[in-house]
Amino acid sequence: FLSVKRLTKAFGELEVLKDVDLDIDKGNIVTIIGPSGSGKTTLLRCLNALEMPNDGVFAFHDGIEVDFSKQPSKKEVTALQRRSGMVFQSYNLFPHKTALENVTEGPLIVQKRPKKEVLELAENLLNKVGLGDKMDLYPHQLSGGQQQRVGIARALAIQPELMLFDEPTSALDPELVGEVLKVIKDLANEGWTMVIVTHELKFAEQVSDQIIFIDEGRIIEQGPPEIVLKSPKQERTQQFLQRIL
Ligand code: ATP
Repeated sequence: FLSVKRLTKAFGELEVLKDVDLDIDKGNIVTIIGPSGSGKTTLLRCLNALEMPNDGVFAFHDGIEVDFSKQPSKKEVTALQRRSGMVFQSYNLFPHKTALENVTEGPLIVQKRPKKEVLELAENLLNKVGLGDKMDLYPHQLSGGQQQRVGIARALAIQPELMLFDEPTSALDPELVGEVLKVIKDLANEGWTMVIVTHELKFAEQVSDQIIFIDEGRIIEQGPPEIVLKSPKQERTQQFLQRIL
């Protein structure tokens, strides 16, 4: 679906991603794990051009290529952003809009799709994430888990080809984590292509086709969960797993 080559990103002097190569197959779930500050969030944000890479080439299944060694045009960047829906750690909902309005905002205002169609889509999505009876509530009237499920419905509403999740459960109280992971698992079963940054290793083991361990801005190890989590080849992966298991 997407092949990333030589992705490099620096903030000033600080090189956060170094020559990252990554392949995401259609319908696959790729999870990214690694120590704090290793560049996981930056990698995800680069995939959606929320951060502009300094270098690298993104090649998509449909033949479209975006080459960051040259300055991509605004049109190319917008097209890239439209391909993916992002779910943020801290939900990032509009506080003065209802759950329904949060979900309709993108397709209605940005994509300028017809109102009737968008309303129907948003209602379906909120039903799908189990919030059919909360559509008219504001974020502050919802629990963290419910807000994050609105966040997922909002990302789905732009009908992306790729879903990106940035530590979607790390701001949640432990008892609310399960309901959000369940929604993500349902999407996995529906065949969505997803990249997920997570600290939930058990969840990563259950859903991932591929796990990427990243440290100091480089991919140290990647492969199926049974290899990366159970018998990693690299010492740094072993040390990381020992620390957090
Ligand atoms: P965590 O697990 O703690 O969320 P992470 O692996 O997601 O960490 P990133 O958030 O990608 O790590 O950050 C990688 C490095 O880049 C860190 O040293 C961070 O301070 C730095 N960094 C991230 N965003 C910026 C920015 N906008 N400006 C400057 N430095 C940044």
